[in-house]
Amino acid sequence: MEHSLLSAPVKTYRLFASVILELSINKQLDYGIPEELESTVTKGCLIEVPVRGFMRKGYVASVKTEPSYPKVLPVHRVLGNTHLITEDLFELGLWIAKYYLAPLRQVFRIMLPSSIRNDMQHKQQLFVSRVLTREKIKEYCIAIRNKHSEQAKVLDVMLLVTKGILLTELLEKADVSKSPVDTLVKKGIIAVDLVQQDRSPLLDQEFFATKPKKLNDEQAESLKKIHQTLEQDTFQTHLLFGITGSGKTEVYLQAIELALKQKKSTIMLVPEISLTSQTVERFRSRFKEKIAILHHRLSDGERFDEWHNIRSGKAQIVVGARSAVFCPAQNLGLIIVDEEHENSYKQSEEMPHYHARDVAVMRGMINKACVVLGSATPSLESYYNATQGKYVLSLLTQRPSSATLPDVKIIDMKKEYDKHSGYTSFSEDLIEGLKQRMGRGEQAIVFLNRRGYHTTQMCQTCGHVTGCPNCDVSLTYHLGDHHLACHLCGYQLCPPPKRCTECQSDQTLKFKGVGTEQIERALHAILPDIKTLRIDADTTKHKGSHERLLRDFRTGKADVLIGTQMIAKGLHFPSVSLVGVINCDGSLNLPDFRASETVFQLITQVAGRAGRGCIKGEVIIQTCLPDNPTILHASNQDYNTFYSEEIGVRQAFGYPPFSHLIKFNFSGEDPNEVEIIANQVRNELMKGLPDAFHLHPVIPSGHARVKNRFRFQFLVRGPSVYFLNQKLSPIVEEHMKQKHIHWSVDIDPTSTFF
Ligand code: ADP
Ligand code: ZN
Ligand code: ZN
Repeated sequence: MEHSLLSAPVKTYRLFASVILELSINKQLDYGIPEELESTVTKGCLIEVPVRGFMRKGYVASVKTEPSYPKVLPVHRVLGNTHLITEDLFELGLWIAKYYLAPLRQVFRIMLPSSIRNDMQHKQQLFVSRVLTREKIKEYCIAIRNKHSEQAKVLDVMLLVTKGILLTELLEKADVSKSPVDTLVKKGIIAVDLVQQDRSPLLDQEFFATKPKKLNDEQAESLKKIHQTLEQDTFQTHLLFGITGSGKTEVYLQAIELALKQKKSTIMLVPEISLTSQTVERFRSRFKEKIAILHHRLSDGERFDEWHNIRSGKAQIVVGARSAVFCPAQNLGLIIVDEEHENSYKQSEEMPHYHARDVAVMRGMINKACVVLGSATPSLESYYNATQGKYVLSLLTQRPSSATLPDVKIIDMKKEYDKHSGYTSFSEDLIEGLKQRMGRGEQAIVFLNRRGYHTTQMCQTCGHVTGCPNCDVSLTYHLGDHHLACHLCGYQLCPPPKRCTECQSDQTLKFKGVGTEQIERALHAILPDIKTLRIDADTTKHKGSHERLLRDFRTGKADVLIGTQMIAKGLHFPSVSLVGVINCDGSLNLPDFRASETVFQLITQVAGRAGRGCIKGEVIIQTCLPDNPTILHASNQDYNTFYSEEIGVRQAFGYPPFSHLIKFNFSGEDPNEVEIIANQVRNELMKGLPDAFHLHPVIPSGHARVKNRFRFQFLVRGPSVYFLNQKLSPIVEEHMKQKHIHWSVDIDPTSTFF
């Protein structure tokens, strides 16, 4: 086989395939297409080709009539699953591989859910229905009741169901074996058929229909611009910059309606799973059309069914988190990225480190679709693009009808500590505010971006902090489980130590630092009658718990919702009239060029949860940095001043959007070795690098050790990603082979610290 391939006489072919190997990034090789394969080798399909005597997998990038070089080998064979990737998604995949420097295999792995790649079958189940009318069955049932009680039990259940019932369910409800069912089928009273069961979630839930609202002038204006793009069937990106609660979602809903009228489908991205259920409810209540939901908590079966519903065109609206941007929507016309500034759109864990917002814009370009990015706090990049005319800007500056922006008060916590002669988590104003809300039957949100009870355990004699043995972070104390836990690797220490491991003193270990768990308890100590709910990573471990907590809060089961950033965004609770920010000073001090931007977004977003109904809202921000400009601008919801100050800083230091950043991450068990490899890669890059590019030195990462692996990084800053990519791809392909040192390339990282 191998032999005949290599020594075959030069054959002539009518068609040639340009092939990208699965493990490569953008190198293309040409192969001749044997006549018998001409009809099956098409763009995007997975084939096997000979490379230096070995068979390798690759994707067909294009089919052409002239090869790039005279002597070519033949395509060996076509592999299964070839048409899973539609042409538009194939194009997108090629772009991702090139831009984010990831081999195609990795790219298509994230683009296709594993259940699709492994070709899981549709779930087939036996479904039982009535053949005779209800009246006839009733009569028959009475007649056989005494002699054939098992059969009668089956019919009792069959009389209750509307259309029919799954066999498994029927057997359970009737509490019988399968044989009475078989008998009834033979007699022609009921029938059993194989049906495809749709595992899409939410299928059985009912929703109240809502009608489109009459738009205010600003909403109407922005919808008009989106309408124009949709009608022209062109690609255009819109930035919908609307303050919190200004009715962006209503604009999305009406834009989708326009797309549906044109028989176009829509992908709507939402940043986090927690937001999905609320959004889906609003969407379902407006549209009868089937909405597919994609998020990471779906089971494989559910994901498989949703994917096929989209692929077949049955679902024309797709709502989902990050990876929904890759769904095989038919005739895609509109892509909406809600809360486009959110970091959760960035895949930070594994390569390719793509940003779903940027991928959405690229997909819009490929599909000639309208892209709408929405936010109350646009990322600096997107707003900059709008000022440069790359995006069409629409502003929503007011909340509709009676809702107004909340009053914001900044509390200087240093003064509170003085009043209190020591530390306190709650200012007098916040406690007073919470009391008032309870009295009036209104609700409040209390935000703190740390979970757990105490954030550290420290020795008062020697200052030693109880840290994780595997990572360079301190352990967090959780009162509920009475243990110390590492939030990076999951390590647990139970019970917490009593003696200092460093200086051996007894009884000197003290807990410090406040997390959400302690806030909840402290609040109950001050206001014993208060009803609280807490949402953080600890209370939402189980499937459905997050949704349940949100539902409980919405239906008034608690006065106060306490939580981490999981509650900061997107949620809409009309009866929340007070929001308290316990403290977010720590985040401002992170050595990261995005620290201010992140804190500004966080405060503005949390504050935006207040006063969304007809009750006037109030926001209390507690801080030890009352004069910090970021906190001040956020408290005034003054994006423009924040933007103009921050963009000046970015320009002065040559940071995005005035440059692209590329972050190289290295990790391994031996810190010296990791550092050496990092420097080797850096040196290779340095050769012949134009002056416009800046190479930062190799430094330990923000968390220098995680799960016993030492981490180093370096940054490259430059005007273009593509230029660097050309230079990088051979280096990456070469070094990726090293097994014990992991390394990854993060293009446009959202954080340079971690
Ligand atoms: P955003 O998405 O900008 O945070 P929402 O779309 O959630 O804002 O709107 C906030 C509230 O205002 C919602 O209750 C919504 O139903 C209502 N709303 C939006 N647009 C209008 C309108 N044109 N007229 C009346 N109410 C509206
Ligand atoms: Zn000690
Ligand atoms: Zn750890």
